[in-house]
Amino acid sequence: MNSQLTAYIALICTSGVLNLYLCVYVFGKRHNYTNILNFFILSTSVITIYCFASAFGLMSTTLEEMKFWTVIQYVGIPFAPPLGLIFAMQYVGIPITKKQAISLLTLPFITLLMVATNDLHHLHYRVYEFHPQLGAPYMLQEMGIWYVVHGAYIFGCMFFAFFIVLRKWKDTAKTYRPQLIALMFGQLVPMLTAFIYLLGLTPTGVDPVPMVLWMTSLLYLWSIRSSQLFMVMPIAKESIFNSMNDGVMVLDESTRLIEYNEESQRMFSRLKKSMYGTDFNKVWYELSGEAFPLQFEMTVTNKDLTSTIQFEERIYQVRVSSLKQKDHQKGLLLMFTDITELKKLQEQLKKQAYYDELTKIYNRRAFFQQCEEDFVQAKNEGIPFTLLLIDIDFFKSVNDTYGHDVGDQMLVHVVNACQTQLTDDMLFARYGGEEFVIALKGYTVEEGEAIANQIRQYVESNPLVSSKGVHSVTLSLGVAEASYEEDETLNLVLNRADKALYSAKHSGRNQVRIYEEAIEVLN
Ligand code: GH3
Ligand code: MG
Ligand code: MG
Repeated sequence: MNSQLTAYIALICTSGVLNLYLCVYVFGKRHNYTNILNFFILSTSVITIYCFASAFGLMSTTLEEMKFWTVIQYVGIPFAPPLGLIFAMQYVGIPITKKQAISLLTLPFITLLMVATNDLHHLHYRVYEFHPQLGAPYMLQEMGIWYVVHGAYIFGCMFFAFFIVLRKWKDTAKTYRPQLIALMFGQLVPMLTAFIYLLGLTPTGVDPVPMVLWMTSLLYLWSIRSSQLFMVMPIAKESIFNSMNDGVMVLDESTRLIEYNEESQRMFSRLKKSMYGTDFNKVWYELSGEAFPLQFEMTVTNKDLTSTIQFEERIYQVRVSSLKQKDHQKGLLLMFTDITELKKLQEQLKKQAYYDELTKIYNRRAFFQQCEEDFVQAKNEGIPFTLLLIDIDFFKSVNDTYGHDVGDQMLVHVVNACQTQLTDDMLFARYGGEEFVIALKGYTVEEGEAIANQIRQYVESNPLVSSKGVHSVTLSLGVAEASYEEDETLNLVLNRADKALYSAKHSGRNQVRIYEEAIEVLN
């Protein structure tokens, strides 16, 4: 056997051994992987058969032996490309049914039959014999019609597989690109070699394709090691990733951005693929001009971290959780949920619970909640605390004469009028139907009385103008200050203010009364 032939056989055997290793390696780990690799295992097994049969072919001395090994080679040659194509389709997420898979493998079966029975019809090889000059095991072959059909079919499969993987290049994060490289070269290397062979540019009489298949096996092994081919992010998962309603970003172990979905892009329009590989805190600063609200370290990851962030007009809840693979920290997952509408609803509910719908000031419940705090604080700090109770005079007759609608307008009018006389430190609330309360922390009864009179005068001199005419309005007000006694309570002060108010009504309305005066009058 000459040295050139030995080199051919050695190369082919290398391809065979590497493919076998790849096949056994992936098969052994199949339980860890998604089931898309079944077709990958099948394709590497038929390539292994092809390589070894080709090596045995080159060791043949008789034509019978040569023909036998050719048939065995055809267990691999026509099946490997469609099996590779099915794998590529599953990988990129093109759905393929069992029926479609079987129909893709029909033509290869026919090819195998054609080759096995070639002597009867010569449709695959028109001529098939040892090379007249070079002799065994170099072959002289002439293509038959079926050879052309078969050739076009496998070229088509390889080209299509190459193309659908290539299309995913732009949308795939750098980290996963070794997967694409392996898949594309897995198609490209045999395709180009076969093409050069058909052009007659390779050594005469031998098939060069198995001599180069070791390259593709090495690429697959590299891709499995470097980017976990089969394990992480087959592109099929990407469509789910991109159709999520939440923005999702993936960070690697060093908190660098390695992936984001389309929803994130919609949420944060300045997000760019060129930011892949950049530290997330820097990315966030570029997006928002602010520091990210959550401090995450890879070690603090057993529990999810959550926060609320405002970005432009929207509010997001952001959740950071760890990405683990067999207990090993692999990175972080950031989920952004748009909660703007939810927040609006919460605000609205809060408003409904704490604010009076008609006048938009605090309701009785909110008043007690807030005022109790102010009262206790004033008591503790030893500062004065005064309450004003306000009641509209003869309000019932406004309702009865002009209707409830004008009554409502009068309530709003009185509230607006009172507000012109109030400052931010005063707590103003609707206490009942046409009664209002004002809590004055830090004000004495005399100061309270002065404010009460200002309000009374302002309301008196500003009548309500409605579609039904001009309605003069007057108020009666009761004022009481909290004592510094131990057992003083807010309710006691309110009771005294109410008594003062009653006294103001009793004395003819449109007046202010403080509790001390009221006692004298009522007595
Ligand atoms: P007084 O001078 O003694 O205070 O007489 P008044 O008519 O103002 O007193 P009264 O407490 O008898 O009347 C209060 C009325 O306020 C009775 C009720 O129908 C009316 N009222 C309570 N809430 C509302 C409201 O939200 N809108 C309107 N239009 N009327 C209301
Ligand atoms: Mg009244
Ligand atoms: Mg009343």
